[in-house]
Amino acid sequence: MNIQHLPVISCNTVVVGSGVAALNAADRLVNYGQKDVVIVTEGMNMGTSRNTGSDKQTYYKLTLSGAEPDSVYDMARTLSDGGAMDGDIALVEAALSAQAFYHLVDIGVPFPHNPFGEYVGYKTDHDPRQRATSAGPLTSKYMTEKLEQQIRAKGIPVYDRHQVIGILTDAAGSRAIGVIALALDVDPTQSDPYVLFNAANVVYATGGPAGMYGTSVYPPSQTGATGIAFEAGVKGKNLTESQFGIASIAFRWNLSGTYQQVLPRYVSTAPDGSEPREFLADYFPDPGKMLDAVFFKGYQWPFDPLKVADYGSSLIDILVYYETVVKGRRAFLDFRRNPSWGSSSGELDFSLLGEEAYTYLKNSQALFGRPIDRLAHMNQPAIDLYCDNGIDLSQEMLEIAVCAQHNNGGLEGNIWWESNLQHFFPVGEVNGTHGVYRPGGSALNSGQVGSTRAAQYIAARYREEPMARSQFLAEAKPQIMAKMELGRKFLAKLGDRSNVSEIRSQIQDRMTRSGAHIRSLEQAKTAAEAALTQLRSLVEDTRIGSPYELRLCFQNYDLLLSQYVYLSAIKDYIEKGGKSRGSYLIYDSEGELPLPQLPEQFRFSLTTDPYFHKHIQRVRLQGFSCSFSWDPVKPIPRESGWFETVWNDFLAGRIIQ
Ligand SMILES: Cc1cc2nc3c(=O)[nH]c(=O)nc-3n(C[C@H](O)[C@H](O)[C@H](O)COP(=O)(O)OP(=O)(O)OC[C@H]3O[C@@H](n4cnc5c(N)ncnc54)[C@H](O)[C@@H]3O)c2cc1C
Repeated sequence: MNIQHLPVISCNTVVVGSGVAALNAADRLVNYGQKDVVIVTEGMNMGTSRNTGSDKQTYYKLTLSGAEPDSVYDMARTLSDGGAMDGDIALVEAALSAQAFYHLVDIGVPFPHNPFGEYVGYKTDHDPRQRATSAGPLTSKYMTEKLEQQIRAKGIPVYDRHQVIGILTDAAGSRAIGVIALALDVDPTQSDPYVLFNAANVVYATGGPAGMYGTSVYPPSQTGATGIAFEAGVKGKNLTESQFGIASIAFRWNLSGTYQQVLPRYVSTAPDGSEPREFLADYFPDPGKMLDAVFFKGYQWPFDPLKVADYGSSLIDILVYYETVVKGRRAFLDFRRNPSWGSSSGELDFSLLGEEAYTYLKNSQALFGRPIDRLAHMNQPAIDLYCDNGIDLSQEMLEIAVCAQHNNGGLEGNIWWESNLQHFFPVGEVNGTHGVYRPGGSALNSGQVGSTRAAQYIAARYREEPMARSQFLAEAKPQIMAKMELGRKFLAKLGDRSNVSEIRSQIQDRMTRSGAHIRSLEQAKTAAEAALTQLRSLVEDTRIGSPYELRLCFQNYDLLLSQYVYLSAIKDYIEKGGKSRGSYLIYDSEGELPLPQLPEQFRFSLTTDPYFHKHIQRVRLQGFSCSFSWDPVKPIPRESGWFETVWNDFLAGRIIQ
């Protein structure tokens, strides 16, 4: 197989992706003087940041208003208090949060401020202060738009519609030297669709591994590319930690905030929509407790096993899962009528509510009418959003599920976001900076901070030219040929029938059943083995109906690699004695059932062993084998902070190293 004719783009840094992390990395690199930068993306308008949002999409940063004290160290402590988070990363994320935030303000992201220029905050989940801010439901979309303006103005080349299918390393496998991409508009039966990027550095901003999950609130355009990073030897970290919660599925949107606070009915039906019934009433001792649990789901959106006991709000996620996944029914929110338990003649008896829910609705002047009336009164844009997406909440029920939303874990990176593979910088959601719990909004902050740090490091330390073309091709030849061979084998399966979507559904169904918020050792084991078996026979089992489906084949390959590593990490965690925490429940035969009428699979106990709070699981894929380490969490550094000392080190170039 000849590779000499393939196009080779040589540059100092190739940035992969076009979400908020990728665009910021490219923008910063040029700001810091590193001009020779290119962006490669499967789609400029694809990914989570560009296509998602929530009731009040949140950005987390240091307090920048008012009289309440805050400090970098305090914020670092909040971040690391979530458990299994390295203190040095927490300190960097806190220290750069204001800089990253003000950069967004300066380029035009409309974060609100008061007449005195204070960026007033509010309190988000796992936040002891009021550090959160928001530019509205589409904060991350605005961020991508403003950052794109910056990179366009700087003339940074964008290789759009190029899907990265492999990370290229030197022959020793110790440093990244570029990537291989598939040009998506080329018919691979007519000419070779491969494009090589020969780069001294790779900034990898491919987002969360969304394509692994069937039930998901990630936008459909986000698939992720974590598997090929594992393949190149990059370590994974905290892969067990993801967030799940209740979302609508026809149009993917988190059902947090007012959608729950207006107290909709929870209805389930048979698969064909018949036999509608309100299912929550079967499980609560009185209507007041049921209504309170629904109300609190608004504030406490992600599923959390700590919030199951005593009819807590996360019991609702379990009941929705029970109806949909276990019983095979469909679940809906209905805003057209009040929950019948707690109402008479259609009027809700608000006196049944606990004090917090009652006071909230009273202060909002919303102690009246039906859920849709209360929603219209408190948050009309929440109704308009669904209308704009073809769903009229005043006329129809909204189908829901417990969906995958965010990966707290991901790829390994140090305090400059460089991974164990040198010159390879995972930034944004693909980097596993977070621990078990994290304040809402810290994902967007982490993406901006991490991409800024990677750019600082590259601009200071890794400014070198890429390899000469001949040397690059020689080093990477076996890897390039392996990918081309994989592509050739997939293309040999071209016929009149395709099963790539079917394979994708099998992958997604497996993860939703065994690697989402309801887990067990048995399921993780079986599913990890099934993922590996499917990966091994993928080429043989694949059929494609069009040459353009080659991209989906490479994605299935990536997703299976990724799924195998994620499920193996879950298995390792449970075998080590890890129990329910974060946003998942693990079956424990010695544990408690949330309610006696629930089946055995929901029996669980909480992680109480401090070991798991203080250690981070890391994994490395070698061949088809995963090896694990459990490393103590690094403490938050306490630097002396003496100005003259720092200044001297700074002048002598000893800071960035
Ligand atoms: C419903 C929802 C609500 C959320 N709300 C909040 C919130 O309120 N606050 C908060 O902090 N976070 C929130 N998050 C999380 C946050 O939005 C994401 O973590 C963040 O936007 C990820 O940005 P990113 O740049 O890392 O990745 P993305 O925005 O996902 O971008 C990834 C990019 O990589 C590209 N790409 C992927 N694979 C390849 C490949 N193989 N080749 C080339 N290109 C590739 C994609 O097309 C895309 O351009 C929310 C997420 C969801 C789903």
